[in-house]
Amino acid sequence: MTVQKVAVLKYEEPVESARRAVELSDGLCHLPKNAKVFIKPNIVLWSDIKPFPKWGMITTSRIVDDVVTILVDHGVKDISIGEGPVLLNPKDKNVAMRAFDGLGYTVLAKRYGVNLINVHRRPYETIELGDGVRLNFSKDFIESDFVVNVPVLKTHSQTVVSLGIKNLKGVIDVSSRKKCHSADPVKNLHYMVARLVGALPASLTILDGIYTNERGPGFDGKIRRTDLVVASSDVLAADMVGAALLGYSPSDVPYLVHAAANQNRPLDFSDIELQGASIKDLNLKLSYEFDYNDNKDLPLFMAKKGIRGVSIPKPDTTLCTYCFTITGLIIASIAQAWNGTPWDQVEVLTGKIIKPSPGTNKTILMGKCMYQANKDNPEIRNAIAIKTCPPSKKEILKALHEAGIPVEPSLIEHPEKAPSLSYRKYLGKSEFDESLFTIQ
Ligand code: SF4
Repeated sequence: MTVQKVAVLKYEEPVESARRAVELSDGLCHLPKNAKVFIKPNIVLWSDIKPFPKWGMITTSRIVDDVVTILVDHGVKDISIGEGPVLLNPKDKNVAMRAFDGLGYTVLAKRYGVNLINVHRRPYETIELGDGVRLNFSKDFIESDFVVNVPVLKTHSQTVVSLGIKNLKGVIDVSSRKKCHSADPVKNLHYMVARLVGALPASLTILDGIYTNERGPGFDGKIRRTDLVVASSDVLAADMVGAALLGYSPSDVPYLVHAAANQNRPLDFSDIELQGASIKDLNLKLSYEFDYNDNKDLPLFMAKKGIRGVSIPKPDTTLCTYCFTITGLIIASIAQAWNGTPWDQVEVLTGKIIKPSPGTNKTILMGKCMYQANKDNPEIRNAIAIKTCPPSKKEILKALHEAGIPVEPSLIEHPEKAPSLSYRKYLGKSEFDESLFTIQ
C-alpha cells in the first residue's frame, strides 16, 4: 500500500506556512523538470459590483501568490492560472479575466510572466473517464504537466464538502457541468464528481483554510477565519483530511466514497501519513445543508417568518449551478415579497426529478429540465412553465407574478448585485481582511 503524506498547518506567515506544508507533504514529488504548471484556484463567481464578500468563497490571493512564489523558487518557468467561474450572465464569458484582474493575478502576470487562462474562452477536449462517462475538459488543463489545485476548505450544500476533486469542475465546459448534475440515481452528481480525478495530471493540492465556509459554497454561507493550510501530492488524501477538518468522516461524503472505490483505496486514513497538526484538535464540525422546515418544503427562515401558501421543495443534486444560484435569489425575492397574506398554494419546483405535491393550485416548473420532467403530470392543476435552459430572468419574473407573488424584479434581473448586499455584515470585523484578496 502506498502511503500518502498530508500536511496540516496553521497558516501563520505568508509564503513560509504554505512552503512548509508543501515540504512536509513532499508535495512537489511528482513535479517533472521543465514542467508546464497549471494553477487552479477556486473562483466560484465574480461580481463587478464591489465590494462583495470573497472570504470562504474564493481562494485567497495570498495563497495563490504563495503558490506562484514557491514554484518560481523551485525553478518553474511555465506557470498558468486558469479558471472558469459560474456565469451569472451566461452570455458574459469574460468574467474570469475581470476576476483575475480584481484578485491581483495581473500583478503575477507582469512580475513572473504567469499566463492567465479564461477557461470559458479556450478549447476543450473530450476525455473518457470510464464507464461511458465523457466530459469536456480545458485543453490547457489536461495538456499541463503538473497541476497545483488550490480550493477553499469549505462545505457544500450538494456534495457535503467542496475540496480538491470538486474544484476540478471549474475546468470542464458548461454542458459537462450540466451533465454532472445528472438525474440518474446511480451516475449522480457524487459519482460524476469522483470521476473528475481521471483527467487530473500529476498534482499538488493545497487547501486554503485561511477562511472556511459553513453551508457553502457561496457568499451566503457562514464564514470563519480559521488560518489553516493543508497540502498533499494526492488529491484524494487531501480531500479526506479536509473533510475530517470540516467535521465529516470521508464515508459521510458520497463523492469521496466513489473516488476511494475507483482507486481501491481505504477510507479509514490507513494509507495516509499526517504531518503537522492533529485533525482531532482542529475538527470544525460545520453544517453543510441549508435549514429547511420539517416537511422540507420551505427554507426554515421563511417558515419562521410565518410565510404560507408557497412551497419550494429543497433543491437536490440535479440542480445545476446556474439554476442553483438563481433559485437562491428566487427564495430571497419571495421572502421579501411576503406581506402577511397567504398566497394561493403555489409550488416552485426545481432541478430534474422533484414531483409536484398534491393540493397545490399553481405549480411553477423552473427550467427546461423540470418542465420536461413534469409537463404531463396529471397531479398539476395549473402549470406555469419556464421552458428555457438556463431559465430566463424575464420568464421567472413573469411566472412568479402570474402565480400571484409580487416579487421585486431587482435581485432576479441583476444577480450580480446579490453578493455585495451581504458585505455589510463583515464591516468592522478585522478578521475579514480584504487585503488577502490583493497582490502587491
Ligand atoms: S434548466 Fe437548470 S437544471 Fe436544467 S440543465 Fe438547464 S441550468 Fe441545469
